[in-house]
Amino acid sequence: MSAASGIVVVGAGQAGGWAARTLRDQGFEGRLVLLGEEAFPPYERPPLSKDVLLGKEPAAATYLWPETSFGELGIELRSGSRAAAIDRSAGAVLLEDGEAVGYDRLMLATGARVRRLAVPGADLPGVHYLRNIGDCEAIREELAEGDADLLVIGGGWIGLEVAAAGRMLGAEVVVLEALERVCGRALTPDLADHVARIHRSRGVDIRLGTTVRELIGDERVTGARLADGTILPASLVVIGIGIVPNSELAAQAGLEVENGVVVDAFGRTSDPDIFAAGDVTNHPNDLLGRRIRLESWENAQNQAIAAARAMLGGETPYREVPWFWSDQYDVNIQLVGLPADWDRTVTRGDRAADRFIEFYVKGDRLEGAAALNNPRDIRFAKRLMQAEKSVDPAALTDPAVKLQTLLRG
Ligand code: FAD
Ligand code: NAP
Repeated sequence: MSAASGIVVVGAGQAGGWAARTLRDQGFEGRLVLLGEEAFPPYERPPLSKDVLLGKEPAAATYLWPETSFGELGIELRSGSRAAAIDRSAGAVLLEDGEAVGYDRLMLATGARVRRLAVPGADLPGVHYLRNIGDCEAIREELAEGDADLLVIGGGWIGLEVAAAGRMLGAEVVVLEALERVCGRALTPDLADHVARIHRSRGVDIRLGTTVRELIGDERVTGARLADGTILPASLVVIGIGIVPNSELAAQAGLEVENGVVVDAFGRTSDPDIFAAGDVTNHPNDLLGRRIRLESWENAQNQAIAAARAMLGGETPYREVPWFWSDQYDVNIQLVGLPADWDRTVTRGDRAADRFIEFYVKGDRLEGAAALNNPRDIRFAKRLMQAEKSVDPAALTDPAVKLQTLLRG
């Protein structure tokens, strides 16, 4: 690999930041360029719907590392630089101004963007999405006034976390969800009902099976007209209806793309010189026995570390049980696995007190688990899955059995 070309990482988010950092930590000494279209150094997004939105910490607290550390590590961080195309035959990334940045190896960590709501009025002032620091600051400013009528469209993770923050900041909050349950992709129907009840008990008006026909207002948004004609007032709207992977760069370069950039367990794309990591990848997970595209903090970091190592010849595949968390009010929710098919649900703990874990069991295998305010037990559930242990449902629910003892079997 020539020092003049070296490695280029496209996308200076969480995955891109970790990829660049890992390349240096693993001894790569060549030229290392990190291209990011945002104005900030790599940062973590989870606090943008939690403590930063609540005003408990500044946006800069989300930076992975101080901006100066990139120079110290010899990483050319080029913020505000959008990659417009990849010229594989020339081995170069083309920037929007036409500059070509040569590479011997390339890492795509372009993440995802918000899915837009296609209804009239969705571009009115006062209508927001939440993906980056600027979005968070704009929403926080409007919520900080304390008397907002907040309308949240989408009862997924963004929607529920923003609803919680809105209530905690004194807003009246309505959540509209198109499906018959919140967080339909991640929670079982029963748990989705439980989480919806927590929100309703805090004063959130959650309306399921409800969609918006248009957002209304002149100078700025003043409300929404629902599909059934009802008009809801709103001084502020936040839309969280999912994301779309930024895989166009890869597709235009002729790489295999299907619900994200298709990679193997080492982060290799269909071009052996090009790797990818994070929200943008469709990757195999042999613990689950299928390909997945994960939208999670842990995957952004750990897949990027594994792929960066593989770029330098590492031979350890990325192989982890998916894990997510969410904080809403004083409730911590954690999920492991992506349970798709199970025959028994067993519970340990106290549902009424919002402190329990549910295990999803198929035969003698744990397919997944979900916990409210029980981070300790779900850590063991993850380890049981990671180690592919057989489980006995009776032992899982018996409070006299410590879960760590099941790891020894
Ligand atoms: P991204 O974070 O999307 O970063 C990709 C970067 O690439 C972006 O900065 C983008 O601007 C840049 N880029 C894209 N195209 C180009 C281009 N052509 N040229 C240059 N740069 C480009 N996950 C959890 O597990 N738990 C949570 O509690 C949680 N909370 C979240 C809260 C919010 C508000 C959001 C938005 C996400 C949350 N997530 C959470 C998800 C998690 O943050 C993402 O999975 C993670 O950010 C993915 O990282 P990534 O680096 O793959 O992609
Ligand atoms: P999401 O979790 O996919 O949820 C989007 C929700 O909006 C889905 O329930 C979706 O239902 C619904 N929806 C879609 N169109 C709608 C419409 N027209 N009207 C009403 N509801 C509609 O995505 P998200 O909440 O927007 O989050 C964006 C990204 O940030 C995701 O990657 C998410 O994982 C991440 N994030 C994660 C966390 C966390 O893990 N704690 C927190 C915040 C954000 P359908 O299923 O029918 O489309």
